[in-house]
Amino acid sequence: MSTPNQALIMLEGDEYVRHLEKKVAQLDQMVTIGHLLNSTLDLSELLELIIETAAKLVGAQTASIMLLDERTGELFFAAATGESQEKLRKVKVPLEGSIAGSIYTTGQPAIVDDVRGDTRHYTGVDQSISFHTQSILGVPMQVRNRRIGVLEALNKFERIPFDQEDVQVLSTMASHAAVAIENARLVARLQEANRRLSELDRLKSNFISIASHELRTPLMIVQGYASFLREQASAETSNDLDMVLKGAGKLQAVIDQMTNLNYLDARSITLTAKAFVLQDTINEVAREWKALAGAKQQELQLKLPPSPITINGDAGKIALVLNNLLNNAVRFTPEGGHIEVAVAHHTGRVAVAVADNGIGIPKGELERIFDPFYQVEDHLVRHHGGLGLGLAIAREVVFQHDGRIWAESVEGHGSRFIFTLPIMMAVSPETNEPSAAG
Ligand code: ADP
Repeated sequence: MSTPNQALIMLEGDEYVRHLEKKVAQLDQMVTIGHLLNSTLDLSELLELIIETAAKLVGAQTASIMLLDERTGELFFAAATGESQEKLRKVKVPLEGSIAGSIYTTGQPAIVDDVRGDTRHYTGVDQSISFHTQSILGVPMQVRNRRIGVLEALNKFERIPFDQEDVQVLSTMASHAAVAIENARLVARLQEANRRLSELDRLKSNFISIASHELRTPLMIVQGYASFLREQASAETSNDLDMVLKGAGKLQAVIDQMTNLNYLDARSITLTAKAFVLQDTINEVAREWKALAGAKQQELQLKLPPSPITINGDAGKIALVLNNLLNNAVRFTPEGGHIEVAVAHHTGRVAVAVADNGIGIPKGELERIFDPFYQVEDHLVRHHGGLGLGLAIAREVVFQHDGRIWAESVEGHGSRFIFTLPIMMAVSPETNEPSAAG
């Protein structure tokens, strides 16, 4: 004996199976849309797929997405099925006096079985694309409580009225579309902001290279005349001229940094790679810095392995890296401090460390100091000068040599900057004697 419920299921078995099959097909389509949402940033492709699927799922002749143009307060077609897409893109739908407009304004779905009996129906769209609208199902589209448009399905096949199940399906599709549109808008905004930033960065770099070029010539004249006058100056005026030359020297250092700004753009670094002995370059750079450190009663010590270490690279650019590191070490170490350049090598790489016992760097800043123009010191209370470019340039040059650079520090006790480079001629660590090239 079967219960009445079982009988009902038996009786409606075929219909029940068809219903389940339809549901499974709908879910399948929605899962596909969900996957697509995560896999493509091509908005028009996605929206077209959403409305095609929406029309299919609710059994409508066509479907369209209308979005609000915030400038004009009208709806425009962001996507539509069928061949009239191009024409539709030019059509605007007013918020007042249209079914889509009232769905947008009220935020409620609407089913209209016969638009002829609805005074809100806006006939402008049908006229412009020679289409005949019979019935409409429309749902609002919103993201995080912000309404952005309307999704409509038109003309249910066989003139059956749209029902609540259709409202549910279309609402799900509308929320998919709304997320896709919002994401695409965010990406577009980010791309635009990025484009503007790049443009500003380009303008800033152009300005700096023009300014440094324009400053160089008058500075050379000042330096030339001041040196000339200094040679013939009396004891009274020679001190004044020394001051002029010292000031001009500082200005020259700033201009040099400005000129080196283009090294931050990897494309504008042209390396003239040649074999050179690292110790020779270090000795050459250190000679100049010994005098400058001496002026601050600082001791500059070198700890270099006796056997030559050969690097295949641009000696001039590596000298620039050392210059920038020593410049910082001298500036950020008080009078009487200690600075050391040490070299160690190991399995095909050499590490150069420039250490000081100066003011040190807070732990949280050890990465950021390599960013262009970044300085630990607030520029309003600066005591140490500089443009914040030295380390950024050093990093770029070291990268170009297939090396790494980083900083270690204990705040208040000093800093150590280490950069590594591949060795052209391997040197055995124990003997410091060259072995097979590696
Ligand atoms: P600049 O020295 O012109 O400011 P850099 O890019 O060479 O630019 O250095 C960035 C910042 O890193 C410096 O302003 C300073 O705050 C910090 N810094 C670099 N080297 C040292 C150092 N040896 N000791 C302490 N702070 C340092």
